Amino acid sequence: MNKALVFLGSPGSGKGTQAKLLQKEFDFFQVSTGEMLRREVSSGTSLGNMIKSVMDSGGLVDDVMVERLLENNIQEGKNYIFDGFPRNLRQAVFLDSFLLEKKISLVRVFYFHIENDYVIKRLLERRVCSICNGEFNVNFHKIKGNICPNCLKQSLVIRNDDNELTIKDRMKVYLEETVPVFDFYKKKNIFFVINAMNTIDSVFCEICDKLLGVIK
Ligand code: AMP
Repeated sequence: MNKALVFLGSPGSGKGTQAKLLQKEFDFFQVSTGEMLRREVSSGTSLGNMIKSVMDSGGLVDDVMVERLLENNIQEGKNYIFDGFPRNLRQAVFLDSFLLEKKISLVRVFYFHIENDYVIKRLLERRVCSICNGEFNVNFHKIKGNICPNCLKQSLVIRNDDNELTIKDRMKVYLEETVPVFDFYKKKNIFFVINAMNTIDSVFCEICDKLLGVIK
């Protein structure tokens, strides 16, 4: 049976960075609903413009819209890391029945624990590549101007929602909507806490340890 992991945690907790590392090392595909939505926004359609205004405000995009996006991007026969989904209880219930239908077993839910002070600092220091979607930190990575260390193009940008005001709104939404999802998974005994304040390498090792017996 194919397997799925869910990454939960506040904005800036490093879910995307770790999902990309795991995808590189193991037979898993990263599913980032945030990236899917940003692609929709860049298409410049009226739907994209509507989504943009919600994302820029720090709110959550309509559940049905995000669920449809997932349905269009997930196939049977693959292993997935859900990064940024579910964001609320309704989405968690949806994911359960969706994975059942696709014959994919949810084996681990990792909660990336990070304190608030780290979050704001990390998000303000974050740069993303508009070509490869790579995520970088101006302090951890050697960055020259806006050159992506991966593509070597002048493609690094600051995300629209990585500003102090929107970060506070995103944190509020996270506390109100996403934190209640923890209990949903704790009851299933697949919930694991990761110390997301450690270095990228140590967080990766902690995740791999907690995947022992689950992945080859
Ligand atoms: P992220 O890239 O995960 O930080 O997400 C960026 C933004 O995309 C969020 O602040 C939301 O506006 C939107 N978004 C991402 N995932 C979801 C989701 N599962 N449900 C609703 N909105 C989402």
